[in-house]
Amino acid sequence: MRIGILGVAGRMGGELVAEARAAGHDVVGGTLNPASACPYRGDVPIMSLPALAARADVVIDFTHADAVAGHAEALSAGRAAWVLGTTGISVGQQEAVAVASRHVAILQAAHFGLGINLLANLARQLAALLPAESYDAEIVEMHHRQKVDAPSGSALLLGEAVAEGRHTSLSAVMESGRDGHCGARATGAIGFASLRGGQIVGEHALSFTAAGEQITLSHRAFDRGIFAAGAVRTASWLAGRPPGLYGIDKMLGLPPARDKDER
Ligand code: NAD
Repeated sequence: MRIGILGVAGRMGGELVAEARAAGHDVVGGTLNPASACPYRGDVPIMSLPALAARADVVIDFTHADAVAGHAEALSAGRAAWVLGTTGISVGQQEAVAVASRHVAILQAAHFGLGINLLANLARQLAALLPAESYDAEIVEMHHRQKVDAPSGSALLLGEAVAEGRHTSLSAVMESGRDGHCGARATGAIGFASLRGGQIVGEHALSFTAAGEQITLSHRAFDRGIFAAGAVRTASWLAGRPPGLYGIDKMLGLPPARDKDER
């Protein structure tokens, strides 16, 4: 398969090149941030996104939320499928992805590893069984010091799974970034706290805490290779599929954690 890597100079970009080649694919090109003056020291041919979209069967995008709307427009005019792993995407940027999905096959996931997606499924089941009035759901995540968005996409994925299990929407009950005199916790809220430091690849813990007990689901990623391997596997799954916005659960053989499949 011919694969293009958007943001090829990034942390994930480098992992994706190595993973795609190790899986026997042809990395036909990559893009760089046009606003960045940093030289690229790798061996992937650098080109514009339209040129790359014409050459690749699939492009894999782990870049920055601000790039997503432009990528959506450029990829809509081409034939390459789009594996989208960038997080921190705003409502407007997500709308651009939805519009592009009328023209190209897109698989978007906040996390490409099996573990967190399994955890999201468990979170949804637990949330459906534990009464929201007595079991307070809180999510703590920690990532490397360079991460630019918070809470992490994976933390939001877990929060959405809890909200879905409770038949509510995350936006209605989300409590994030508590500071100062913010008042007592609202019953039924889903809380988030984000820590940053060092080079931590990704740690997440979801707790349901009641008066007499606490249940915690936790996950630690030690290596970005799990995201890259999942994204390359996803690229193989997505290539040649009809236009649409696909979720990762189906590819992983899991029941959908949220209503995203073929929306
Ligand atoms: P990074 O900063 O190391 O790399 C991002 C790269 O994208 C940089 O080289 C930057 O210059 C480049 N870039 C920015 N705008 C661009 C543009 N318009 N065109 C081309 N390149 C552009 O960051 P990272 O750690 O590799 O993470 C990238 C994204 O992937 C983040 O949003 C992160 O949260 C997300 N991520 C997702 C998963 C997942 O499983 N879904 C896993 C890890 C990281």
